[in-house]
Amino acid sequence: MTLRSLPDRKPFLTAALALLTLTALAAGAISAEQRAKDLFGAKKLPAVAPAQSFGFYSKGCFTGGVALPMDGPSWEVMRPSRNRRWGHPAMIALIEKLARDARADGWPGLLIGDVSQPRGGPMMTGHASHQIGLDADIWLTPMPRRPLTFAERENMSATLMVDEKTHLVKDALWTPAHTRLLKRAASYPEVERILVNPGIKKKLCDTVTGDRSWLRKIRPFWGHDYHFHMRIGCQPGSPGCKAQEATPDDDGCGKPLAGGSRRNLGGRTRTRMRRRPAT
Ligand SMILES: [Zn+2]
Repeated sequence: MTLRSLPDRKPFLTAALALLTLTALAAGAISAEQRAKDLFGAKKLPAVAPAQSFGFYSKGCFTGGVALPMDGPSWEVMRPSRNRRWGHPAMIALIEKLARDARADGWPGLLIGDVSQPRGGPMMTGHASHQIGLDADIWLTPMPRRPLTFAERENMSATLMVDEKTHLVKDALWTPAHTRLLKRAASYPEVERILVNPGIKKKLCDTVTGDRSWLRKIRPFWGHDYHFHMRIGCQPGSPGCKAQEATPDDDGCGKPLAGGSRRNLGGRTRTRMRRRPAT
């Protein structure tokens, strides 16, 4: 290398150094995230302290968590080996209330998917959110009349409610009871959002008559085709909980429903569906 050639090479060297630094930083970030997943995933019990959520739905944790009992009069916890039936006490109480109310509405009972890990935080598999004890997944399959065994809870398949080709709800499966269940969940003031597949949102937009104000809380989001995701707001006593932006005032039926796609769902155009991580 001659002295004369150095200035020419300097930009290249600088860029190479920057790239190396970025790569090292990225590697560090990945391992920090992995460490957080490992740490939170290893906790079998909650942090004993007053109930408090810290951070945001997709980056945080919580103390004072309680577990939803494996069985209740009108619910059963699915995939119990995951140990994700923990939540802020307000969330657990709300799931129990929804289970009771839904049964009164004619839904046999709730099959409960993931809530949170005992202390929240990121999970080793699935879910970007569910980290602060304020999110819960509830199956769109009604609870069977007979109790499920442990093995059934681990292995039973959920019913996909949306056709993977058309992205529309399978009409043979959708019932007025499904609509009533979502309406009931949306009726609680603490519930801020309910995430459903865009096909399900479209079905509600097309069929709900009378009071449609609750549709504001029903948000289209890919996935969510065998379960819905119920999110409650930050609870009192959690000053470190970061609230999510409020949903718009309208029912959200006049916009494209594809959650990021510019195309409308159904009708003449078809939306290519990309599977995204569960939320
Ligand atoms: Zn979820």
